[in-house]
Amino acid sequence: MLIFTGGTISMGETADTGSLSPLDTERVLGFVPELKTLNVNLASVSFTPLIDSSDVEPTVWMRIAKIVEENYDKFDGFVVLHGTDTMSYSAAALSFMFNNLRKPVIFTGSQLPVGVLRSDAKENLITAIELAADHDENGNATVPEVSLFFEGQLMRGNRTTKRSAEEFDAFASFNYHLLAKAGVHIKYYEEYIHQENASLPMTIDTVYSDKVAILKLYPGIRRENVEAILNIPELRGVVIETFGSGNAPRADWFYQLLKEASNRGIVFVNVSQCRAGSVEMGRYATSINLQRAGVVSGHDMTLEAAITKLMMVLGRCHDVEDVKRMMETPLRGEMTLFKD
Ligand code: ASP
Repeated sequence: MLIFTGGTISMGETADTGSLSPLDTERVLGFVPELKTLNVNLASVSFTPLIDSSDVEPTVWMRIAKIVEENYDKFDGFVVLHGTDTMSYSAAALSFMFNNLRKPVIFTGSQLPVGVLRSDAKENLITAIELAADHDENGNATVPEVSLFFEGQLMRGNRTTKRSAEEFDAFASFNYHLLAKAGVHIKYYEEYIHQENASLPMTIDTVYSDKVAILKLYPGIRRENVEAILNIPELRGVVIETFGSGNAPRADWFYQLLKEASNRGIVFVNVSQCRAGSVEMGRYATSINLQRAGVVSGHDMTLEAAITKLMMVLGRCHDVEDVKRMMETPLRGEMTLFKD
């Protein structure tokens, strides 16, 4: 099943101004006649209106999850056509919403609109459909995860980041191996693909909290800036984007502010501004204060995974210690725990 949410892949140039606006599903599929030669039965549902992914909100994630849930038994897999700008956030969020997922939910999109010469839309769409339909002789899906397919690479959704606004190779999975690569043949990296073994029914969790914030550090950050974030009414969780392997300024005011907010029950999660590698709190003296203030390690999680996970976990748990424990535990393969 194709789920059209919007984005460049489903846009076309308007004749008069040449600006991009959404096309209807039929017209998009009309640009890809090759789909008729694929040996799959395709159905599609479409958001009306289609949206630019910069307008995505958690309610969109809920809608996608519900469409998958309602159609789960009828299809072998799902391809979500989505704008590239926030695709990594949506793929990460969805990964945390499904329990016992045993079918592929593959996000894809394109850098150029579907009808444009040199567009990357066709390749991305056709191969994503092939991947979503692939299963063994017993009907078990080959990649039963929330993933993201772009420019020949299938990645775990909650490990991805949009890395380029220019290149067709727009997404990267810096800290986790590809799940599959599509060249002349499709090569699956089976040891990296998660297989849910419990035969429990698939369910979705749609509660979330938006009482979260991101605090990005930089040399010279002012006390007032940090205070302004930590004093947001009803704030429950903060992802801190730290330096290198999880380091932060040692200024006493910074430590005191974090400590005081932590005592009020705000949960802090440490992720690195570096896109590859992991937070290792305690490795440098500059991360000791974070530990002392009760900040939990986000290990090698992407920012996209950390903030969406925090929203979902805060929606489900009300006890601060439970939230911290879940944030430090891999739930959907979103992080690898650092080992000494
Ligand atoms: N602004 C578009 C979006 O994210 C960009 C794209 O799809 O590539 O919806």
